[in-house]
Amino acid sequence: MKILVTGGLGYIGSHTVVELQSEGHEVVVVDNLNNSKIVVKERIVGISGKTFELLVADVNDTEALDGLFQKHVFDGVIHFAAHKAVGESVDLPVMYYQNNVSGLISLLGAMEKHKVSNLIFSSSCTVYGSTEVLPVTESTSIQRAESPYGTTKILCEDIITDYAKHKKFRSILLRYFNPVGAHPSSQIGELPLGVPNNLVPYITQTAAGIRKELTVFGDDYETKDGTCIRDYIHVVDLAKAHVKALEYSTKMSQNVDVFNVGTGNGNTVLEVIKAFEKASGQDLNYKIGPRRGGDIEKIWADTAKVSDVLGWNAQYDINDMMKHAWSWQIGLEK
Ligand code: UDP
Repeated sequence: MKILVTGGLGYIGSHTVVELQSEGHEVVVVDNLNNSKIVVKERIVGISGKTFELLVADVNDTEALDGLFQKHVFDGVIHFAAHKAVGESVDLPVMYYQNNVSGLISLLGAMEKHKVSNLIFSSSCTVYGSTEVLPVTESTSIQRAESPYGTTKILCEDIITDYAKHKKFRSILLRYFNPVGAHPSSQIGELPLGVPNNLVPYITQTAAGIRKELTVFGDDYETKDGTCIRDYIHVVDLAKAHVKALEYSTKMSQNVDVFNVGTGNGNTVLEVIKAFEKASGQDLNYKIGPRRGGDIEKIWADTAKVSDVLGWNAQYDINDMMKHAWSWQIGLEK
């Protein structure tokens, strides 16, 4: 298939391009380099041995998108291009609505005009909010979002579902749990801008001496060691789930389907730190601090549906995730 990947030089996008190419699909990328670097293209080509066309443009640039859709006949689109920092979205909500929601609308406009009818959308487990029902299944109810970022994910899911109902359109919404790690080649990985908000880049930067110490946000939760539980998923496994979803979208009977993408295992913050210490062979400098506002105590995925329907299962465990995240961090300093 010939696939358009928006945000294809970003963290999850770049890993997905590699997996698409390795499964024999042809890829075209549109990326505005807002949170990615042009060098990522060479890195992807270095891993896959296959090149691809890159258009440096914003998905909100309807003319640029139109030109791309005129030039290529796409079999499907994987839409990653979006802002993703929860904290930033609280400070800059309009920027989030504009980029994430308008960006999707612009993309749907181009898809409609050029009769492209398969879309894989990056959603998030953030749509479940704080839930008592664990693990969360795809039918666990969606809660009002705690942040503008979360709101954009719910809005985009709603827009796609609504649109697909009335059109000849197939879409899969993938609700990611916590993507971490890097490609085992250490050629691509996460490139956080400034001080990372997320746990794993903060850990690796602390171990590398870029940050003084990690603060664990609270150890008084109702969990086995008092720290929050998340379902961490290796970015390569997550990338592979997109290829499976894409292939499934061409033959599914309903217009929209939704899948959780996680390992099905929850790990506490302290377990992640221990796994990192084991993988890196060094002690991490950390302290326990107060809770972070808006944090959910615990969440992990029920993965029965993604396993049964897409035939996808995570291959990497938390130790692999930490090993690859650390190799990537070390490589960045060279
Ligand atoms: N966390 C932490 N210290 C940090 C960053 C994160 O203790 O510097 C914790 C956070 O409270 C949460 C987990 O690590 O329990 C994962 O946080 P992250 O921001 O990576 O992802 P989230 O699940 O919040 O989207």
